[in-house]
Amino acid sequence: MEPFRIHILGCGSALPTLRHNASCQIVEIRGKMFMIDCGEGTQIQVRRSKVHFSKIQGVFISHLHGDHCFGLLGMISTFGMTGRTAPLHVYAPSAFKEYFLQSLKLFCDSLEYDVAFHSIDADRSEIIYEDRSLTVETIPLEHRIPCCGFLFREKQYMPHIRREMIDFYNIPVSQINNIKMGASWVTEDGKKISNDKLTFPAEPPRSYAYCSDTRFIDTLYKKVERVTVLYHESTYADDFQERAKLYFHSTAREAAMVAKKAKAGKLLLGHYSARYTNEEILLSQAQSIFPNSSLTNEGMVIDI
Ligand SMILES: [Zn+2]
Ligand SMILES: [Zn+2]
Repeated sequence: MEPFRIHILGCGSALPTLRHNASCQIVEIRGKMFMIDCGEGTQIQVRRSKVHFSKIQGVFISHLHGDHCFGLLGMISTFGMTGRTAPLHVYAPSAFKEYFLQSLKLFCDSLEYDVAFHSIDADRSEIIYEDRSLTVETIPLEHRIPCCGFLFREKQYMPHIRREMIDFYNIPVSQINNIKMGASWVTEDGKKISNDKLTFPAEPPRSYAYCSDTRFIDTLYKKVERVTVLYHESTYADDFQERAKLYFHSTAREAAMVAKKAKAGKLLLGHYSARYTNEEILLSQAQSIFPNSSLTNEGMVIDI
């Protein structure tokens, strides 16, 4: 199968620390690269990762808190200095549009590539990106301002060809695509060979859900049911449950409750409060509910 990976560039929360960078991930999926959130300092993190600037074709911003978007303008400016020519697509809540376009005019008016802005309505779930191999869908969240997550879903792969059967029936190469699309084959003496004898099913499509800043939503699991890997913010441990409620954030335990109800394959934790100098407490509380939980850290690359 083609690579489907998550590069963790930042997993801290709002207060900058020496321990973590602000929110940013890169989703590498079937040869394409998409960024999710772009906190301050992101471009340095991209430099540290193995991802080339010019490969990033779109940036998805979950909400307009600085720890998720303050790095965008600087990064766009740097892309200009490194000779980018490919267009960049920015998907963000509609309230960002006016400020963003004005800032581009003020600081980036001589870019030699196009920046296309796409408004998101964070209150509803819709497909905001689609190509022949994947879709990206918004996941409405509940934060202090409009905020959404993003669900990346591969499209179904075409079935695999049973090479030995193709050889056995002497089927010409020109027919392989038709057979992958479901056609059967008729031999010279009129015998019909059904498609399931010529192919076997491809692997099930994989998916990745990024649930950005949000309070615990007990129905969220429905939106991410059976997702291969779920990232869910986990700003606090149990000791700050009340604070989580007050500021519309989640605890690691709550993130794990979503993963468990959703029957997710794996849970990634992140957006750690600066008060924790060791996140093991978050991990153990999450694992007590959902054992296949992991901490994210800058520089990690997770295969989906
Ligand atoms: Zn945040
Ligand atoms: Zn926030």
